[in-house]
Amino acid sequence: MLISVVVPCYNEEKVIQLTYNELSCELAEITHDYEIIFVNDGSRDGTLECLKSFAETSDKVKYISFSRNFGKESAMLAGMRFASGDYTVIMDADLQHPPELIGEMLRYAREGYDQVIAQRNRDGDKAAGTFFAHGYYRLVDRLTDVELTDGIGDFRMLSRKALDALLSMNEYNRFSKGLFSWIGFKQKIIKYNNRQRAAGETKWSFRSLIRYGVDGVLSFNDKPLRFCFYLGSIAIIISVLYLLSLLLSIMFDGIDLPGYFTTIFAICFFGGVQLISIGIIGEYIGRIYYEVKRRPHYLVDETNINKNNIQ
Ligand code: UDP
Ligand code: MG
Repeated sequence: MLISVVVPCYNEEKVIQLTYNELSCELAEITHDYEIIFVNDGSRDGTLECLKSFAETSDKVKYISFSRNFGKESAMLAGMRFASGDYTVIMDADLQHPPELIGEMLRYAREGYDQVIAQRNRDGDKAAGTFFAHGYYRLVDRLTDVELTDGIGDFRMLSRKALDALLSMNEYNRFSKGLFSWIGFKQKIIKYNNRQRAAGETKWSFRSLIRYGVDGVLSFNDKPLRFCFYLGSIAIIISVLYLLSLLLSIMFDGIDLPGYFTTIFAICFFGGVQLISIGIIGEYIGRIYYEVKRRPHYLVDETNINKNNIQ
């Protein structure tokens, strides 16, 4: 019974050695049949050299190195495509996902759970971040068809069945949190205490978080388009009512010339409604544009894995 552990790494030279030590110790206690697949996502520091040195000392270490930074989603996909284990774990390179949980995950996986998911609490996180996260999850819950839960990320163990299901989805814009939830299967959630990064710094900027947030809403349904339709309909109803009342007042009181405020209001309001709607449609068209190009999710520069296995 083989366990694969997929670890996406982007500029992680400060922490990767520590992660590798802890992870390999932990895995050695559980089984001798494991592989660790490090995916170097175009790091600009010494991450790749570290990975190569691990691979020299142990044949359980595999690495895939991208030609540039393709993002964590692509890195996870590459790792999952190569993983040959009966059970596959996905975890971050910064020890925020404690390797100690893998033993417990395996126990549940063997009981027949296809996804054993680690859920963190938000202890030690910045209050503002927690506040926005809660708000965001509430919004996404309302706007989308898939269920996202606060504190649940990519750290999980997948059975072969669940992994194959994930790999069968070939979309270009991958929003893993949604994909994991979309495939379903038997799930078990285990809780753990939040941990801060062991070293190095986070790759998320405010802008990338916003982009990720928009992805989460748009990747899974067309409800925002329906929102445009409702907004447009409401605007039409209001304007028809307003025109009627205007017509009546003209008929009974004669023409009342001063209409500057209402005219400007109408122009601004409907201009805004149209721009929002075009913007939302544009987001979808942008996504369609990337989907139809059918470009690969990533390009591999070097690897110690037999290339035939990687698409
Ligand atoms: N990561 C990656 N490619 C990227 C950004 C991040 O492979 O473009 C990896 C990173 O090396 C880490 C994981 O994704 O293993 C999570 O990143 P990070 O710790 O910066 O995110 P946070 O924990 O702050 O959400
Ligand atoms: Mg992190």
